[in-house]
Amino acid sequence: MNTETSSGAPKQKRFRGVVVINRDNCKGCAFCVEFCPTHALELDKAYNAKGYHPPVFAKPEACNGCDMCGLYCPDFAIFGYREKAEETA
Ligand code: SF4
Ligand code: SF4
Repeated sequence: MNTETSSGAPKQKRFRGVVVINRDNCKGCAFCVEFCPTHALELDKAYNAKGYHPPVFAKPEACNGCDMCGLYCPDFAIFGYREKAEETA
């Protein structure tokens, strides 16, 4: 995939991925972590109120907002979306 403009400058992403996590709805199954195609999520070392390890948004720069995490979560505890980014190139 070509990631450069015709001038040779790196192309800026026109959107960024954002994730919303409801920690206390999570039961720590890790489906979101396993199915995230960009490995943007990790399970937290800390526990939530139910005694499970919820995900944390460990690599926000990697997220593409695809919402695979939301599609696989059985407890509606996470979802992702795309937010328009400032265009700088
Ligand atoms: S929105 Fe997509 S890329 Fe971002 S954390 Fe969820 S599954 Fe991963
Ligand atoms: S898929 Fe949902 S319930 Fe499972 S760890 Fe991720 S946020 Fe928690």
